[in-house]
Amino acid sequence: MPDPEPPPNDCPFPKRFPSQLVRDDAFFMSLAYNQAIDAWRRDEVPIGCVIALDGEVIAAAHNAVEVNRDPTAHAEMLAITQAAAHLGDWRLERCTLYVTKEPCPMCSGATLMSRLSRVCYAVPDPKMGCLGGATNLNELERVNHRCELTAGGVLEDECRELLQAFFRLKRTQAG
Ligand SMILES: [Zn+2]
Repeated sequence: MPDPEPPPNDCPFPKRFPSQLVRDDAFFMSLAYNQAIDAWRRDEVPIGCVIALDGEVIAAAHNAVEVNRDPTAHAEMLAITQAAAHLGDWRLERCTLYVTKEPCPMCSGATLMSRLSRVCYAVPDPKMGCLGGATNLNELERVNHRCELTAGGVLEDECRELLQAFFRLKRTQAG
C-alpha cells in the first residue's frame, strides 16, 4: 500500500470569489491570493502568482520550494514557465504578472528577462524585493526592457495578513 497523502494543512483564511465579470487588478490578485492559500495548505510560504493576457489567466502557481525541494520554485518562476509553454514563446510581451508579494532578486530578474509588459504586486518587500522595495532592477540604466509597475495597493492588506499569520503560526510551532 502506498503511503496516503498527508492531510492538507488547515488555512484559517477563506478563498476569495471575485466576480468573473470585472477583470480588474483586484480580480487577478484575488486569484493569486487563492494560489497563496493553496501554498499554505501544502505548508509552503503563502505566495501566489497568476499571469493574465487579454483578460484571461494563462498561468497560475504558488510557491513550491519545500515540496519540489527546489530553491527556484517560487510562484513567479513557475508561472512564467507555464505562461511561456502556453504561448509557445519565451517573450511574455503583452502579459501582466500578478503576485501577492514583491518579487525577490531571482524573480525580478525573470520578469525582465521574459519581457512582461506589466508587474503588479500586493505587498512590498523592503528586505528582498527587487522591483522597488530593496532596489529596483527595472531601473537599471542600460536595460532595454522596462515593465510597467504597480507596487502595492491591490489587496495589499489581505496578502500581508496571510503572510504574517503564516509566519506567526510557524514561530508558535517552532517554540
Ligand atoms: Zn522569487
